[in-house]
Amino acid sequence: MDVKKIYMDADALLEGHFKLSSGNHSQFYLQSAKVLEDPKTAKLLADTLAKQIKESGLEIDTVCAPALGGLIAGFALATALDVRSIFAERVNGEMSIRRGFEIKPGEKVLMCEDIITTGGSAMEAAKVVEALGGEIVGVAALANRGFCHRQNSDITTKANCKLPQNIPFFALADFTFEMYAPDECPLCKDGSEAIKPGSRGN
Ligand code: ZN
Repeated sequence: MDVKKIYMDADALLEGHFKLSSGNHSQFYLQSAKVLEDPKTAKLLADTLAKQIKESGLEIDTVCAPALGGLIAGFALATALDVRSIFAERVNGEMSIRRGFEIKPGEKVLMCEDIITTGGSAMEAAKVVEALGGEIVGVAALANRGFCHRQNSDITTKANCKLPQNIPFFALADFTFEMYAPDECPLCKDGSEAIKPGSRGN
């Protein structure tokens, strides 16, 4: 499956000068919502990811996605795996599990994002799941930004990866473009202003 082509065809791989949620700047931005606006594409991606996860033999009771970014990918993946689908959301900046979702002691939970960059949001949500008694058995994402090692890829884990190294990370593709600290960003040095994706019609 050529995931990069699917993102390009959906105009979901944006080029410009972007401020990422981590605060870093980048020339490219992946807008997964654009890929997932076609439910057939969402299903195809989730089915392919689910196949990879099933082949690994990992046992999963529930998929948990951090809102908003992971919601559609999480739901589609849970559908493909035929397991429960829940989500975590931020309340006053703190990740929490609400909406009456319950987690049984020892429930095996797979965290799911659209894109894993450092995995920060996924791990924040994972801590909440663990505090409620759940066991995090793996992480899944449609795409990997190349900072964390994943199954079936020779990409090595970088220092800023926040995913635990003792559980598997599944993704369909690696998108390894540069990310810059704002004071080292060559695009800023060229005089342009970084925009927050989604804030100006993108
Ligand atoms: Zn910049």
